[in-house]
Parts: sequence; C-alpha cells; structure tokens
Amino acid sequence: MHSSAEILGHGPMDVFKGLAWVIAGVLFISSLRGLASQETARRGNGYGIVGMGLAILAMLVAGTKDNIAFLIGALAIGATVGVTMAQRVAMTAMPEMVAILHSFVGLAAVLVGYAAFLAPGHLGVDSAERGEIWLDVLIGAITFTGSIVAFLKLRGSVSGKPLLLPGRHVANLLMFGTSLALVVPFATQPGTEALPFLLAMTLLACILGVHLVAAIGGADMPVVVSMLNSYSGWTAAAAGFMLDNNLLIITGALVGSSGAILSTIMCRAMNRSIWSVIFGGFGADAPSGGTGAKVVGDMTETSIDELTEELRNAKEVIIVPGFGMAAARAQHAVKQLVDLLRKRGVNTRFAIHPVAGRLPGHMNVLLAEASVPYDIVLEMDEINQDFPKTDVVFVVGANDIVNPAAQTDSTSPIYGMPVLEVWKAKRVVVLKRSRGAGYAGVDNPLFVAPSTRMLFKDAKAGMEELVAKLMA
Ligand code: NDP
Repeated sequence: MHSSAEILGHGPMDVFKGLAWVIAGVLFISSLRGLASQETARRGNGYGIVGMGLAILAMLVAGTKDNIAFLIGALAIGATVGVTMAQRVAMTAMPEMVAILHSFVGLAAVLVGYAAFLAPGHLGVDSAERGEIWLDVLIGAITFTGSIVAFLKLRGSVSGKPLLLPGRHVANLLMFGTSLALVVPFATQPGTEALPFLLAMTLLACILGVHLVAAIGGADMPVVVSMLNSYSGWTAAAAGFMLDNNLLIITGALVGSSGAILSTIMCRAMNRSIWSVIFGGFGADAPSGGTGAKVVGDMTETSIDELTEELRNAKEVIIVPGFGMAAARAQHAVKQLVDLLRKRGVNTRFAIHPVAGRLPGHMNVLLAEASVPYDIVLEMDEINQDFPKTDVVFVVGANDIVNPAAQTDSTSPIYGMPVLEVWKAKRVVVLKRSRGAGYAGVDNPLFVAPSTRMLFKDAKAGMEELVAKLMA
C-alpha cells in the first residue's frame, strides 16, 4: 500500500518540507503585515521567528543528513553571534548592526554561489544554472562590500563625506556593463575554464559596491541601508533559484520588495530620487556641494522655571523627539512629562519625522518602550499643519529634522528634505546640550529665531528636572 505522496513520486519527508515551506511563507507574509504598525509589531516579529524556526527545522529533518554535524555547528555559532550582537547593541547603533548583517547576507550569497559552481558534478555547462549563479554572486558581492562601507560610515570609522571621483557615473556604468558582459563566457565555457570570468566579475562587483556607497553622504545613509536591505533580499531570491529552494525565493522576494518600498517611502520623505540611490552618488550632486549659509544672530536661553510656566499655561503642546532623546535615553522622563501635562488637560502630542534619530522608526520604538499611547504619536504628514495653532513645541534632542534651511537655503546639504515646521508655533523650546550642529553638520536658523528658546542641558537630566518642577 503506497501513500498518495509516494505515488506522486514524493516521499513523506518532501511533503513535510513542502508543507513547512508554505506555512513558513505565510508566516513571513503575516510577519511583514504585523510589522506595519506599532500595535502589532511584536506579534509580527513572533510570526517571523516561528516561520524561520519552522524553515530551519524542516531543512534539518527533510534535508540531506550528510553534513548535519557541520550544519548544527554553524547554526550554533551563528545563533550565538546573533544573540550576543543583539543583546549588546545600543539602540543608536542599530543601523550599523543592520548594515553589517546585510554584509553577511551578501557574503553568504557569494560563497553559496561559488560552492554551487564548484560542487562536484556541477561543473558541466548548464547555461541557465550558470546564469543563476552569476546573478546571485553579482548582487551578493555588491551587497557585501556596499554594506561594509555603509557600516564603516555609520560607525564614523570612515568619513561620512561623499567620495566624488571625476567621471564616477561612467566608471559605475563601465563596471556594471563589464560585469554583465562577463556572463556570456561564464555561462558558455566548460568546467573550471569559466572560473576566471566568475572571479573577474566578483572583483568588479566588489569594487562597484564600495564605489556606489562611498559616493553617498553620511546623512543619506538611512536610505542606503534600506536599499542594501532590498539588495540582500534579491540576492537571497537569486540563491533560491540557484538552489531550487522555493522558500528562499519567497523570503528573498519579500525582503527585496519591502526594502525597495521602504527606500521609496524614505526617498519621498527626504525629497530625493530613488534612481540616484540605486546608481550611487545619491544626494551628492546638486545642493550638497555646499555647507549651507552661516547663521547669524543670537540664541536666547531659557530656564526650567520659565519653561514650566509656559507649559502650565499652554493648551496645545507638541513634543518633537530626535537623536538626542535616544542618546540620553530620556524617553521615560518624556513619558512622565506627557502624563503630567495630559492630567492637567493640556493636549500633548508627538510629531515624528520619518528619519528622526538614526534609523527608520527609531523614535516610535523608544516611545513604545516607554509606553506612550500610540494615538498621540503622529507622523510628520499628520501633524505638520498643526504647528501654527500650537502654544509650545518642545524639541527634545532634535536638530536636522526641524531645520528651516531645508526649505529656504538652496546651498544647504539638506535642502529639499521635508522638515517639521516647528517655527510656525507660538513658542519653540529646544532642549540640547550645546550650540553644536546635528547629523548633517549644518547650522540651524531655528535656534536664533525670535520665538525660539534654548535649554542647554542633557535631555534626560533636563527632562527629569522639568518633571520634578512641574510636580512641585
Ligand atoms: P540630529 O543628529 O540632527 O540632532 C540631534 C541633536 O541632539 C544634536 O544637535 C545634539 O546637540 C543633540 N543631542 C545629542 N545628545 C544629546 C543629549 N544627550 N541630550 C540632549 N541633546 C543631545 O538628529 P535628528 O533626529 O534631528 O535628525 C536625524 C538626522 O540623522 C538626520 O540628518 C537624518 O538624515 C540622519 N540619519 C537618520 C537616520 C534614520 O533612519 N533615522 C539614519 C542615519 C542618519 P548637542 O550635541 O548640542 O547636544
């Protein structure tokens, strides 16, 4: 008596694997859906973990058992490295970690590509298979080196300044064109004779990855990281075709397309063109050659006492958190302030810029961690028109995202980036430690505007002082 699976030519293990693939695919899609909003993000993450666990289990149970010890050893090492990195990483260093993890995906794709090519019995010319290997290695190598440069730039180990070599677009085109052309000899030469072409293409793709990202300025790194995220997805999908692994194709396509969508959304938020990100030199052309106009005027300082009075008398307050709130870990004190104000009947809300902090969603994560209700956390588009009717805007450790020069100074590196129009409020109070610039390194005319007051303190210490005063 044969089971239907065996009659169809599949063993029960294949059926189990197939089923596990489908369930894992559905879980990955549910995971993305969950991650789309703060309320469901934790659940979405859970789906992703279960999906990935199932996929690994299915592979261990249904896959070849020849190298199972190596596989388990590799899993143990990978899991240990991953858990240690995730536990140690500071929230502010998250983009760096994401960038370095993308480089692992790129490197893995390159190695798997080479392994597939050099595997015994696979050296015969199968042009389609060679094409898949070529695509996997090409995207993998660009992702690998590009992500390393992004990691070094975000870490500050190399300068955040764009590297603008003369004729860089032509150089990129030549490198890409030659990499493309190399697929022909690689796909048609027999056996190891094809290897030099693969090696040459890998080298070119590695240089291209470095050059594409090196041409992009530090302030534009978030889009680059999200774009590299997309590349790492496509490289996984290419590996899926190469290895005949449907789940890898599904997962790769999900990561690739969601990364591309996120990059597009971020580009729109920063008024940049997605094509210039893909082709490198993003943000390096027109305005960012300059450093922006020098700001003249004096900053007016305020005190905790004065601010306490203003907040007590206010009806509408908007808090604009930025990188400084994250750096100082001031979110819990901010939450206390919000509770106090709301108890007094002051309509207190948050305005979140899409690139506030150092990674997309940075502020949302911190505010959620401090249990700030989601309904008072508003995106830029939802709240930008409300500033004129606001009594006090309290800017907590933010700078670039509230810089009016983005609208008025065409020589500024951030010109064209949509910003929170806080200067339209009756009073703006900026809490930061010094007169220093923000991430983009440009002066901020907001600080000398007549309605602005500066409170020079560490965000957490200043916020705690303010809360204590308001409670007194
Ligand atoms: P900025 O980096 O522009 O400004 C942060 C301000 O916080 C600084 O001016 C600093 O001033 C102040 N600060 C730092 N530490 C403290 C502290 N302990 N207490 C109080 N203040 C502090 O941050 P924004 O959030 O306004 O803008 C984000 C910038 O980062 C944009 O340019 C964006 O393009 C870029 N970026 C964004 C990413 C993302 O995805 N969100 C990723 C990478 C970059 P002072 O030193 O005087 O205290």
